[in-house]
Amino acid sequence: MCIFCKIVNGEIPSAKVFENEHVYAFLDISQVTKGHTLIVPKIHKENLYELTPEIARNLFEVVPTIANAIKEQFEPIGLNLLNNNGEKAGQSVFHFHIHLIPRYGKGDGFG
Ligand code: 5GP
Ligand code: ZN
Repeated sequence: MCIFCKIVNGEIPSAKVFENEHVYAFLDISQVTKGHTLIVPKIHKENLYELTPEIARNLFEVVPTIANAIKEQFEPIGLNLLNNNGEKAGQSVFHFHIHLIPRYGKGDGFG
């Protein structure tokens, strides 16, 4: 079972940000900025190419809710949404995930 599947089923502990029937969101273990969050479908899909429209809908539907929760809690001045597909694109965990990276201005550690 992959590491994010283990996080989803609670075998590996994580700092939960959001959860519903289809989606789990949690803080990245090595946050590039404060509040760096990962959003995953509960079903194991390796990458963007494997997502069905239904899985994509269920996932993207909750992104604004999660972004607003991050905005409330961490008060960033901006937010990046990103997704890496394939090792050459920087993917290191092969269970589809979206990064939400709050931004705090120059020197915030990202970009
Ligand atoms: P990728 O490089 O695949 O786009 O992103 C994978 C992310 O997963 C990395 O930012 C990495 O820090 C994070 N990560 C890897 N293992 C764990 C873990 O066990 N727990 C949490 N919370 N994040 C993890
Ligand atoms: Zn998985």
